[in-house]
Amino acid sequence: MVLVFAHHSDGKFKKATFEVVTYGKKVAQMLSCDCAAVVLGSSDSAAVLGQYGADKVYSISDSQFDNFDSQTYTSAIAQVAEKTGAKVVIVGHNSTGKSIVGRLAAKLDAAVIGGAKALPSATDGFVVEKNVFSGKGIACYKLNTDVKIISLMGNSIQPEIIGADVSPESMDVNIDAPLVKVIERKTVSGTVPLPEAELVVSAGRGVGAPDKWGIIEELADVIGATTACSRPVADTGWRPHHEHVGQTGVAIRPNLYFAIGISGAIQHLAGVSSSKVIVVINKDPEAPFFKNADYGVVGDLFDVVPRLNTALKEFKANS
Ligand SMILES: Cc1cc2nc3c(=O)[nH]c(=O)nc-3n(C[C@H](O)[C@H](O)[C@H](O)COP(=O)(O)OP(=O)(O)OC[C@H]3O[C@@H](n4cnc5c(N)ncnc54)[C@H](O)[C@@H]3O)c2cc1C
Repeated sequence: MVLVFAHHSDGKFKKATFEVVTYGKKVAQMLSCDCAAVVLGSSDSAAVLGQYGADKVYSISDSQFDNFDSQTYTSAIAQVAEKTGAKVVIVGHNSTGKSIVGRLAAKLDAAVIGGAKALPSATDGFVVEKNVFSGKGIACYKLNTDVKIISLMGNSIQPEIIGADVSPESMDVNIDAPLVKVIERKTVSGTVPLPEAELVVSAGRGVGAPDKWGIIEELADVIGATTACSRPVADTGWRPHHEHVGQTGVAIRPNLYFAIGISGAIQHLAGVSSSKVIVVINKDPEAPFFKNADYGVVGDLFDVVPRLNTALKEFKANS
């Protein structure tokens, strides 16, 4: 059995969860076994996971799972894995998944690979690829334990409709009361969260001041992108912390990443270099980011970006 953790937010599943389920199904096909999804906390739409490849859906709707707690979540997933005899457990490589995998590996005595970017290969053992050295290399890890755990980078696979709705089955687990008490939850609304965004417009210290971000937001608006920023920009309070991408921020893998007025330091590249297409706008032709760019514009962002916005608006109006 392959077991995927189907994370939801207030009962709703996001694209990243469907990616994990489709990935799980493909791994299950490779191993000639079934794929099950486990849902923690109440969700009315768990049946839809069957469409993305889950052969079974286990639902543990206890209200103590309504707030995320790494210890209780890990304990529940480990118990489901043991009860179902799962040999591979897959979670998303997001903040929730990252805080689960280590604990889960300890509980299941399993090898874990964090941030896989492709399907495993089973021709010579169970081998999984991931980016290393800030995206400069790819390492292939052979997992030799009986149970294997994978966290999957977002946007590594497209969700596919490969099945039909599956009625969730309930399952009992023994969980201690959570040690963490949630006092308040603040969620960002309005835009696609960065880990799931396919289009990202990101800017750095080159913008110069927080009140000059209008043209960056306008570009994001025109193409329907999520905004991001480099670390110093978030550290100085020009932009909110949840926009900070890179080694110490959010790691992303969008289809299109605009890097505007960002130098391209290794710590920044660590979180964005897997983007499918990178467009760099920088006035310094020697800026390191150009080495990672698919398209580069050498110019002042206050000249280039407004012209780009006008051209994109005209293009949209005429197409
Ligand atoms: C342990 C550690 C972890 C780190 N983690 C991260 C991380 O996760 N994410 C991250 O981003 N950084 C991280 N950093 C910081 C990183 O090393 C860089 O300092 C940071 O990325 C630089 O941000 P920046 O490119 O916005 O600013 P700068 O380095 O100041 O670059 C600004 C760029 O804008 C260009 N520019 C200026 N004016 C214009 C203009 N008018 N038009 C066009 N271009 C212009 C300049 O040519 C320059 O290339 C980390 C550092 C450390 C030590």
